[in-house]
Amino acid sequence: MDILVINSGSSSIKYQLLDMSDERVLCSGTVERIGEAMGVLNHKIAPGAPGEDKITLTEPIPSHEAGMHLVIGLITDAEHGVVKSKADITAIGHRVVQGGDLFDQSCLVDDTVVAGLEKLIPLAPVHNPGHLAGIRVARELFPGTPQVAVFDTVFHQTMPPRAYMYALPYELYEELKVRRYGFHGTSHGYVTKEAAKFLGKPVEETNLITLHLGNGSSMCAVKGGHSVDTTMGITPLEGLIMGTRSGDVDPAVYPLLAQARGMSIQQIDDMVNKQSGFKGICGMNDMRDIHDAVAAGDARAKLALDMFGYRNRKYVGSYVAVLGRVDALVFTAGIGENDPVARVLSCRGMEHLGIKLDHERNQATERGARDIAAPDSAVRVLVIPTNEELEIARQTAGLLRDN
Ligand code: ADP
Repeated sequence: MDILVINSGSSSIKYQLLDMSDERVLCSGTVERIGEAMGVLNHKIAPGAPGEDKITLTEPIPSHEAGMHLVIGLITDAEHGVVKSKADITAIGHRVVQGGDLFDQSCLVDDTVVAGLEKLIPLAPVHNPGHLAGIRVARELFPGTPQVAVFDTVFHQTMPPRAYMYALPYELYEELKVRRYGFHGTSHGYVTKEAAKFLGKPVEETNLITLHLGNGSSMCAVKGGHSVDTTMGITPLEGLIMGTRSGDVDPAVYPLLAQARGMSIQQIDDMVNKQSGFKGICGMNDMRDIHDAVAAGDARAKLALDMFGYRNRKYVGSYVAVLGRVDALVFTAGIGENDPVARVLSCRGMEHLGIKLDHERNQATERGARDIAAPDSAVRVLVIPTNEELEIARQTAGLLRDN
C-alpha cells in the first residue's frame, strides 16, 4: 500500500510517498512559490537513504494543479519514478490544520467534508484555503483514489470545556465557535504513542507532558493517552514563546497599540504572528543563531532564551498540576530533538517535582527515541523524534482498513 501525504499551503505543496508495508519513504519534496513569476520544485528520491537522488525544477508554477501535475510526473517518470503509474497510489492523506469542532477524527474526504472545511475558513484564514486547493486538485487528478483529511486539531478534541473555553461572553462560543482548539495534534498524538511504546505501558495508562518545540511551539498535557490541555488556542498564537509568534500576551496591549501607534487590527495581528517571539526580542528567530549570539555576549539573545525557558517551565509546572501523576516529559521537533540547552532550560529547578535530567545523556547527539532523565528521576524525560507525515500515512491506512 503506497500512500501519498500532502500538506498543501497557500503557495506551496509538501509531499511524501510512503510504502506502508515497511513505512519507508519512497520520495518526498516541496513545490514552492506557486503563482509567482518563478516556481521551484525540489524532489528527493529515497530521502535519507545512501542512494538518495535529488531533482530540482525551476519554472513558472501558476497553480496548485500545475504543481501537482509536476509532482505526479516525477513520481511516475519512466527514468526516476518510484511507481509505475498514478494507479499504484492507494490513497492520499491530506494535512489539515483546522478542523474546528466539526471534526473529532480523521475522515474520508467527500463533498460534505469539503463544505465543512470551507465553513471553517474564518477560523483558519491562512491555512484552510491552501489545504482546500490541494484537496480539490487531488480529487480531480485522482478521481477514484480515497482521500483522507487528517487534522492538527483532532488530538485536542478530548480537552474538557474548562480547558477549551475562554472566559468571554458565552454567545461568542455559541455563535462564532470562539474557543481553544490547540494545534500540532498530529505530532503530540504521534509522540504520545511512541512514548508509551518506549515506556512499555499501554497508552491508555500513560500520562505525559509533550513539548513540541520548533519554529512554532506548543505543549500538551496528555492523560491516559488523551489531550486534556494544550498551550495553543483558537489559532497557533497562544501559549509558548516561538520563533516569530508572541505566545501569551495580555490582549489589552492591542487597543493600547491601536491608540498609541495608530495600528490597524491587521497590522497588530501581523506583528504578533510574524515580528514577535524570539525575533521581536533579539532580532533572530532561529535557535541556532540565538545560541551563537548568546556565546558572543548578546544580552537580548540571552533575554530571549531566558524568557523561552521560563515560559516553558511555567507551563510544565501547570501541567504537572493538571495531570497529578506524570510518567514522562517528551521533547520533540527541531529544538526539542536537537537542543540540549533548551531542554535544560525547560526543566531546570524542577527536581522537587521529580523531574531530573542526566546531563551526559542530555548532551549526547544520538538520534532516535531516548531517555535523558537521571536514573533516580521519578519522571522520565524522553526525546522522541516526531514524524507527522508518517502519522498522517498511518491514519490514512487505518481508515482504509476500517472502511
Ligand atoms: P517547524 O515548526 O518549521 O517545523 P522545526 O521543528 O524544524 O520547525 O524547528 C525549527 C527550529 O529548530 C529552529 O529554531 C532551529 O534553529 C531549531 N534547530 C534545528 N536544529 C537545531 C540544533 N541542532 N540545535 C538547536 N536548534 C536547532
